Amino acid sequence: MARGKQKEQAREKAQKLAETRQGGKSQLAARAAGLQMKCPVCKTPAANYKIIVKHMEAKHPKESIPPESAFQS
Ligand SMILES: [Zn+2]
Repeated sequence: MARGKQKEQAREKAQKLAETRQGGKSQLAARAAGLQMKCPVCKTPAANYKIIVKHMEAKHPKESIPPESAFQS
């Protein structure tokens, strides 16, 4: 039974991924749009610059934090 459910979930996941690629309005797409910034060191996605700064201070204290403008695409 669990196997069948897993398969179903995988199918849904693939469908959402396809919607995202097509610019669909799924929640997944909305969430992805909110995570455009990435840590330049470990590529962890972050919603905004403040989170990047906190993340870098915590995880990469030896790295210099780039200015916010460096994250604008
Ligand atoms: Zn990082």
